[in-house]
Amino acid sequence: MIEIRTNCENCNTSLPPNSEEAMICAFECTFCRDCVETILQNVCPNCGGGFENRPVLRNEYLSKYPASDKKIFKPIDKEKFQEQLKRFKDIKPSER
Ligand SMILES: [Zn+2]
Ligand SMILES: [Zn+2]
Repeated sequence: MIEIRTNCENCNTSLPPNSEEAMICAFECTFCRDCVETILQNVCPNCGGGFENRPVLRNEYLSKYPASDKKIFKPIDKEKFQEQLKRFKDIKPSER
């Protein structure tokens, strides 16, 4: 099972397990759709990979499979991120 972190690393907006706005990279770095589309442009600031929608976990599973209590709130360094963005944004994730 995936970890399910319940907030956006960049803006700290809440992303509960049944959220349709949560997006993750291969390392489960977790961001809201808004940040991924408008700021990150599908480039993970931690690993350079792309994002996919995080699958929704139905509420009835939450008691048995609780979401992660690990909260990462680490807004991107905009200047540093520009370099990464320039390097990766026009290359599809599978070819970066
Ligand atoms: Zn966000
Ligand atoms: Zn990542």
